[in-house]
Amino acid sequence: MKTLSIDSPCPVCHAGKLLTVNWRIMHEQAKDSEYGIMLANLHHERALKAGDIYCCQHCNERWYLDSKQRMLAHISADKLPLVSAWHDQALTLSAEQYQLLAAIENCNTLDRRQAHAIPCQVTTKDGTVYPFAEVVIQRDAPVEDYRDYQLASEIAAISASPYALPKAVRHECGWAQEIRMGFAPTLLLLSNGERVTVNGISTFINLEGVDASKTQVSELPRSMVDFPKIYHFQGKIISFIASPAPK
Ligand SMILES: [Zn+2]
Repeated sequence: MKTLSIDSPCPVCHAGKLLTVNWRIMHEQAKDSEYGIMLANLHHERALKAGDIYCCQHCNERWYLDSKQRMLAHISADKLPLVSAWHDQALTLSAEQYQLLAAIENCNTLDRRQAHAIPCQVTTKDGTVYPFAEVVIQRDAPVEDYRDYQLASEIAAISASPYALPKAVRHECGWAQEIRMGFAPTLLLLSNGERVTVNGISTFINLEGVDASKTQVSELPRSMVDFPKIYHFQGKIISFIASPAPK
């Protein structure tokens, strides 16, 4: 079969080019757009423990509809075994682990209705330590291509990561205003007294002699010329997919 790509997507479901599409808008605009052809060719293949898998009758690519029926997301072929394994397992953590993750997020309990990505250190059952990990707690399947997923059933222990930024700092970075195309700076005051600029969402700081948990947000200089050097986290973040705590 022909490989789908941005330059040569499926003519029916646009897999290869289209990553996600709003399910409601697809239905609303089905009459006067290509969404109609797409919907007519999407075959419901399988209900998962949350959400559903659809298959394009033309190209055989799979699509995932989340449990709230909001977004239809393309499932890349290499994510299909993971989605299947995710479906087959409960992937719940221990009460203590949920509690620890809630503490990292500065709350008593994690809201079950929301998705969370909580930075921490994970030790897996084979003894590997991942200091740059996050536990992703959500009802829906792990289909996002930008994340490097493993299943929460691999987890032996969770602890606070010495490289993770405090929740308040992550929050500020995530909401930083874009002042130039693709540049949304936050100025961070590090535990060693140094200042760095980070761009947009920031989770980890890995600098010699810096305790990331003591990082503070500082005021941006008026002129870009005075911005301290930009820090860009280079490490690889592993995301462990887990289910929300049982009620
Ligand atoms: Zn297709």
